Amino acid sequence: MGDPFSELVTAVQPYQARKAYTCPGCDLSIPAGTGHLVVVPEFEPDMRRHWHRGCWYKEGRRRGSLAS
Ligand SMILES: [Zn+2]
Repeated sequence: MGDPFSELVTAVQPYQARKAYTCPGCDLSIPAGTGHLVVVPEFEPDMRRHWHRGCWYKEGRRRGSLAS
C-alpha cells in the first residue's frame, strides 16, 4: 500500500466545467463555468471530488499538520 492520501489532482478549466458541483472542503457549490480541481484517490477512482482550488490547498495544509 502506498500513501493513503495519494490522489490524482487535475485542473478543470472554466470551459470544461459544464455542471455545478459541491466542494467537500466548504460545502459550497462550484458553479458551472468555474475553473476548479478534480481530485481522484489513487485506490478509489470512483470517489472523485471537485474542489475549489483554495479549499484543496487548505486541505493539503491541514493534512500536512496532521501528519507531523
Ligand atoms: Zn470550497
